[in-house]
Amino acid sequence: MMRQGRPTTPGTTGSETLSTFSGHRGLDHEEPLIFEQDAQGRSGVDLPAPANLPNRLGALARRQPIGLPGLSEPQVVRHFVRLSRKNYAIDSGLYPLGSCTMKHNPRLNEKLARLPGFADLHPLQPISTVQGALELISTLAHWLRALTGMPAVAMSPKAGAHGELCGLMAIRAALDARGEKRNRVLAPESAHGTNPATAAMCGFSVDPIPADARGRVDLAALKAKLGPDVAAIMVTNPNTCGLFENDIVEMAKAVHDAGGYFYCDGANFNALVGRVRPGDLGIDAMHINLHKTFSTPHGGGGPGAGPVVFSQALAPYAPLPFVVDQGGVFDLAEFSANAQGATPFGRMTAFHGQMGMFVRALSYMLSHGGDGLRQVAEDAVLNANYILASLKDEMSAPFPGPCMHECLFDDAFLKDTGVTTLDFAKAMIDEGYHPMTIYFPLVVHGAMLIEPTETESRESLDQLIYVLRNLAKAAKSGDTARFTQAPHFSPRNRLDETRAARTPVLRWRPPPP
Ligand SMILES: *Cc1c(COP(=O)(O)O)cnc(C)c1O
Repeated sequence: MMRQGRPTTPGTTGSETLSTFSGHRGLDHEEPLIFEQDAQGRSGVDLPAPANLPNRLGALARRQPIGLPGLSEPQVVRHFVRLSRKNYAIDSGLYPLGSCTMKHNPRLNEKLARLPGFADLHPLQPISTVQGALELISTLAHWLRALTGMPAVAMSPKAGAHGELCGLMAIRAALDARGEKRNRVLAPESAHGTNPATAAMCGFSVDPIPADARGRVDLAALKAKLGPDVAAIMVTNPNTCGLFENDIVEMAKAVHDAGGYFYCDGANFNALVGRVRPGDLGIDAMHINLHKTFSTPHGGGGPGAGPVVFSQALAPYAPLPFVVDQGGVFDLAEFSANAQGATPFGRMTAFHGQMGMFVRALSYMLSHGGDGLRQVAEDAVLNANYILASLKDEMSAPFPGPCMHECLFDDAFLKDTGVTTLDFAKAMIDEGYHPMTIYFPLVVHGAMLIEPTETESRESLDQLIYVLRNLAKAAKSGDTARFTQAPHFSPRNRLDETRAARTPVLRWRPPPP
């Protein structure tokens, strides 16, 4: 079922208005849903008809056809290969998505993660047969403790948000052990949405802390909110505006003096790794997104890995399981009566975490070494500042001074142009760029958050800067058609995002006969 021709793009001229007989554009195929390609009974395999077996399903036997599409093997292969080509990925170009650390994933990591001794394990294998895997988890845990200066780490959480949940559950357990009912969690207005969501899921109420004019947590406002019902603060450092929280040590002290715990969202650890140890800043718990800082692949929905490091105060409540190193023989502590006589709050997940991500992260660490990881942070910060310095005369930056690993612009430079942040981002797609993060953090009007990471070269940054400068100039000079209908060159043009969100069509139904 081929759609004939593509809709033309109003208000534009040139090749994109030409519709084709096939609906394809160049070698980019218009790809129908796999269900639309159903050829009634066609199959990729040729099995003999089933013998006359007795029906053992009784009344449970299916009465209606299952409705799976019938396609040959080459049709299926082509369908998924074509779909994969529509996907933009870090392997196809720069991915400036702020707060995501979309860095290159070295192929060495992939090679090691596929070693059969790691890839083909079963989580229920006897401990004696998985000594190497346990040693790897133990070594990675050692690196995470050393890099953060924290005494304990829970390896099993499977994403940043899952790590936040783990951290707050440990805080809850520590408060319960103290016999205290503290129900309020403070989080900056600029916090990533997962922070308040996690606190709410743990049964805490969330109280926002305002930012000051420098884009940092307002320390005085924070102190004014502290009290005997505050369980914790959750702070991201560097924060989601890409700025270092200069008062972090004082914040930690104030929270501890008030009897609360300090949860740090470590998603932005890429800016600090090898340079700053969060444990030295007074942090009690912090998740580390292995799939950001330590180059394990992400995007497209997973998998992630979000180990959580803990201070001495929270370490006893860290969840099970953990690997115990008994002089080179490794064991898993799986029950609460563990060697330390501690009282873990429970488990986060059925088994031990994302083994493949562990292998990739450790491979990345060992291939960089301590000095290499330090250079990661330095280059990431340098790259972001290069973009900020190169664009701040043409675009507008809401906060003065240098940034950390990501740079933030607002939409002041688009004022009175008729072009919005969304239009600007869509025009980037026509230029071959995945847009930066937009409208986040919420505290900045029309935010555009760019995180180049350390893996972009000077030439690649210069090319991005060239495009963004020209787009900014075009917007200011009244060339609005370039923006308001963008993207023109993508498989689909501007979507009605409001309608898509309000009345989503989530299920394909066969067209009426
Ligand atoms: C990515 C991110 C998270 C959530 O991490 P996931 O692995 O996506 O769950 C939390 N906070 C910040 C600041 C982030 O950038």
